[in-house]
Amino acid sequence: MAKVLILGGGFGGVVAAKRLAEQLSDEHQITLVSRSRYFVFYPALVRLAFGKCQREDISFDLRHAMLDRRVNFIEAEVARIDTYERKVSIAHGEVEGKLPYDYLVFALGRRLATERISGFYEHAHHLLNVDKAIKFGKAIANFHEGRAVIGQCVGARLPIPVYETAFALAKRLEENDERDRVRITIVSPDAIGSEFGDSDVGLTLQKALQQHQIEFVSGFPIEKVTEHAAFTSSGQSINFDLLMLMPPFQGASAALYQGITNEAYINVDWSMRVIGVQGCTP
Ligand SMILES: Cc1cc2nc3c(=O)[nH]c(=O)nc-3n(C[C@H](O)[C@H](O)[C@H](O)COP(=O)(O)OP(=O)(O)OC[C@H]3O[C@@H](n4cnc5c(N)ncnc54)[C@H](O)[C@@H]3O)c2cc1C
Repeated sequence: MAKVLILGGGFGGVVAAKRLAEQLSDEHQITLVSRSRYFVFYPALVRLAFGKCQREDISFDLRHAMLDRRVNFIEAEVARIDTYERKVSIAHGEVEGKLPYDYLVFALGRRLATERISGFYEHAHHLLNVDKAIKFGKAIANFHEGRAVIGQCVGARLPIPVYETAFALAKRLEENDERDRVRITIVSPDAIGSEFGDSDVGLTLQKALQQHQIEFVSGFPIEKVTEHAAFTSSGQSINFDLLMLMPPFQGASAALYQGITNEAYINVDWSMRVIGVQGCTP
């Protein structure tokens, strides 16, 4: 009998659990560990911020879903993995101590490295979890004039919610007859649409932004945020009355100090196997 341990209850962990439960015979034990018992459908967070859906519409209870698939679910915080001993240390939660495994699926997602941007925590909104999206939604509801700056920091790797937010805000203001009272600016370290690696996407975006009078400022790598302005390292600045930023991302810290990560993420081969250890797949 093999013990398969899956860390993380997001898309990666849940799909891995489902597939393994379908393909492995009953003698093998599959366990999923995640800090929250709720799966969140991240692509709907912009809709949540704009009041188009509710918290309960975009999440489901993992424990029930996993039970149906004969996967044990443990709600707990993973502290670190030990790939030599093949054990995972749990910081706190429904179990304590170390969980042994024969095979490990590492799907803890990314960590928000907000500490890399001075003042981010105090002065910027983001919408990368349910609570933050709802908080940003309240700020939008109270925002009727001034300048909204929406953007991504270096290393954010998530452009879609930036454009989606800018378009949703423009639409909301148009519907409320407030569009001419608000200037909307997208800031990015990169050129328009370059994140998508397709020049046609860039052109289409450019047209749509112009249509909705949304400015795009490229080559703007934000390094510091104060109450009403964002700054780059070269001293450029932009003022705002409302700021929503995608922070830099980094790999989850539980895999650090095992010699399996580069600066930010786990090193994997073409089949997503972790390079240098047996039985570990992110
Ligand atoms: C607003 C938004 C819009 C998006 N839109 C799209 C889109 O349109 N199309 C698309 O393809 N992708 C989109 N994405 C990206 C997509 O959601 C991610 O790529 C995907 O969620 C990554 O899945 P994951 O399982 O790797 O990580 P995650 O979804 O981040 O899951 C990680 C899981 O691990 C848990 N966890 C983390 N650390 C610990 C710990 N120490 N202990 C225990 N549990 C822990 C977390 O609670 C979480 O359950 C969007 C993301 C956002 C935020």
